[in-house]
Amino acid sequence: MDKAQIIDGKAYAEGLRARVARDVQILSNTHGLTPGLGVVLVGDDPASQIYVRNKGVQAVQAGMRSFETRLPADATLEEVLGAVRAFNADPSVHGFLVQLPLPKHLPEAEILEAIDPAKDADGIHLINAGLLASGLDGAAPCTPVGCILLIKHIRGNNLSGLEAVVIGRSNIVGKPVAQLLLRENCTVTIAHSRTRDLAAVCRRADILIAAVGQPELVRGDWIKPGATVIDVGVNRLPAPEKGVGKTRLVGDVCFAEALEVAGAVTPVPGGVGPMTIACLLRATLIAACRQNEIVVPEI
Ligand code: NAD
Repeated sequence: MDKAQIIDGKAYAEGLRARVARDVQILSNTHGLTPGLGVVLVGDDPASQIYVRNKGVQAVQAGMRSFETRLPADATLEEVLGAVRAFNADPSVHGFLVQLPLPKHLPEAEILEAIDPAKDADGIHLINAGLLASGLDGAAPCTPVGCILLIKHIRGNNLSGLEAVVIGRSNIVGKPVAQLLLRENCTVTIAHSRTRDLAAVCRRADILIAAVGQPELVRGDWIKPGATVIDVGVNRLPAPEKGVGKTRLVGDVCFAEALEVAGAVTPVPGGVGPMTIACLLRATLIAACRQNEIVVPEI
């Protein structure tokens, strides 16, 4: 059998960002509207700093306005809520997010619920989760949206009737990606840490999505021949072969084994990862259109 197609998420995300930039330009020319993306960053977590910087750079490259509110690690709940309320009230900010994880003393749920659902770029407000579960239009979380775009890129727009298995039931990846697959008329199974005979469940899948956080959990013999495998997992392992203290990234799927069985598989890095910010820009563009009652472009 031929080796699986490697799904180039980096290239797809680049194309998506270019399409968003084109539509931002059209929006600006025809309606004088420039979408704005905001981020509230609390504390100095190094990974979050890099991520927030990338969001800002990519927003500006797409022709959007970028807003950042930085607060110290010991910020009070009132200060964080104040930053959220300021973005809620600012008409030039169409979408924003509070970068997670938050310092431990801050109540995450209370802060996320203070975000105006119409500006919830990450799609994690309870109202948006409810809209998604009801099959209604709201903001969906960016990584799951990225997974669906990659699947459609490989399998075409009609996913109707396909067996989809999602491993992981988190609110930010597993559950919303399962809802989006259901919306596409897939037959969806959500597997998790208590699922019995996970390998047998996975072997049913035409579309297999792993969002677990366990390095190379999914082996080649868990995969149905020809399946589309989307690996959301990001796990950092020691890589002494690269030098002292060096690390490497692996996904939740054993990539080498998947290549021998699957029809198509995302690599880690370079698969789902680059899709998240591209989808955040897409979400901000959509939010700007909805808030101004402008027809949302097909992107
Ligand atoms: P999480 O820890 O919230 O959820 C993990 C899920 O996996 C849980 O529902 C749990 O039941 C399930 N699980 C744990 N061990 C299992 C096992 N042995 N067998 C079956 N199921 C098991 O994680 P999350 O936030 O959903 O993230 C999952 C992975 O995706 C992580 O590696 C994370 O870094 C990655 N991630 C990547 C992106 C991106 O690429 N942009 C975005 C979000 C998350």
